[in-house]
Amino acid sequence: MPELPEVETLRRDLAAALVGERIRRCEVRLPRLVTCPDCRTFCSRLKGARIEEVRRRGKYLLFVLDRPWEWVVHLGMTGSLLLAEEGSPEPPHTHIVLHLTHPRLLRYADPRTFGETAVVPAGDHSALKGLAGMGPEPLERSFTAKALERAMRTSARVKSALMDQRRVAGIGNIYADEILFRAGIDPSRPADSLGKEELERLHSAVKTVLREAVRRRGSSVSDYVDSWGKPGSYQLVHKVYRREGRPCPACGEPIRRTVMGGRSAHWCPRCQR
Ligand SMILES: [Zn+2]
Repeated sequence: MPELPEVETLRRDLAAALVGERIRRCEVRLPRLVTCPDCRTFCSRLKGARIEEVRRRGKYLLFVLDRPWEWVVHLGMTGSLLLAEEGSPEPPHTHIVLHLTHPRLLRYADPRTFGETAVVPAGDHSALKGLAGMGPEPLERSFTAKALERAMRTSARVKSALMDQRRVAGIGNIYADEILFRAGIDPSRPADSLGKEELERLHSAVKTVLREAVRRRGSSVSDYVDSWGKPGSYQLVHKVYRREGRPCPACGEPIRRTVMGGRSAHWCPRCQR
């Protein structure tokens, strides 16, 4: 699933390509991807709108328009937003097509269709629960060690707490594993059992791992590609994620995989306490 670094990469590329573009026409082939309003209203609100800015909140992309609406996209597990030209071969599972200045297109493709899109009143995200209840942005300056400590005040496992979007925005399975390895913390520890020094290490690991992953344009482990169809490269430096049985890069101990709350955690039993 695209997490903060992948969505941030898309945001930057799409901002560079789309700011100032007008949406001439909108085609929705799979109406259930449109959370609100209904599909026809969705298209009529987008039609003719100019894209003024592209923002990101957690794993959501927000397109600010020259009208009192905002276009919101969440890529779910396997969604992608691809820039293309009219007449170019269409990727399978293309469910939404926005026609921009001829011949430019923006295609939304999503094999598993867990994504969602909506047009909502600008700045009012109350219709989208996940977005309205989103926790702090970990790469913002205001996300201090103190802010992380507040987010970790729960007896849930630290890995689940990091992935809980209401506590911290944008972190999913890949980056939670990599962050906890860097911080030297066992993913199954209760979040509220972490001491001050551990929280500081965790805070610094959150910032370092996410920044480096953005610099490397995200991780391409299964489906993720950027809006030009190109993979990121952070997967090349993953230390634990999907490296079960391979030696820990720090101590040589085989990386372990444990199922935790239905998701797998990858970690080093010697380096992570
Ligand atoms: Zn190790």
